[in-house]
Amino acid sequence: SDEESGGEEYLFKIVIIGDSAVGKSNLLSRYARNEFNMHSKATIGVEFQTQVLDIDGKEVKAQVWDTAGQERFRAVTSAYYRGAVGALVVYDISRRSTFDSIARWLDELKTHSETTVVRMLVGNKCDLENIRAVRIEEGKTLAEEEGLFFMETSALDSTNVKKAFEIVIREIYNNVS
Ligand code: GDP
Ligand code: MG
Repeated sequence: SDEESGGEEYLFKIVIIGDSAVGKSNLLSRYARNEFNMHSKATIGVEFQTQVLDIDGKEVKAQVWDTAGQERFRAVTSAYYRGAVGALVVYDISRRSTFDSIARWLDELKTHSETTVVRMLVGNKCDLENIRAVRIEEGKTLAEEEGLFFMETSALDSTNVKKAFEIVIREIYNNVS
């Protein structure tokens, strides 16, 4: 048991939400397996990936959930959100409409979550600077207004991917430990 081993274990459920094709599945595959797929289709089969971290000598398991593409049908179920203590709310910096959807995703998260959820606003595809449609300041401002962490990432070139997940995981850990 934990008591006998003297160790404590933590399991945190984290969900990734945002419009279709913003890069949710690739953020997860980059983080969990260091893989990127240029032609990724809707995730099939895998519901979540678990990453194990050591924080202050404690074993922390982050169970990161990916939608199976249901967001295309606006049908992300309440089961997806159940028990989540962290969320990455993702838009694509090259597609304005995905940034405009963030308020709706935050509402949905609020509706479905029971506890205080550590939230990070993620502007993904920051490698696409030449076709940027959302300024970094706009992301920062929205995050400040809504009380979210904020980061621009690229699942393609790995910029800030690990950092984004780990800030969320550490904040959850700080809140519960
Ligand atoms: P999801 O629908 O939100 O899960 O998005 P996917 O992860 O399936 O990605 C949708 C498309 O965007 C795929 O063609 C990916 O290769 C591409 N993509 C994902 N992340 C990035 C990124 O950081 N930069 C670029 N340039 N393309 C990306
Ligand atoms: Mg996906």
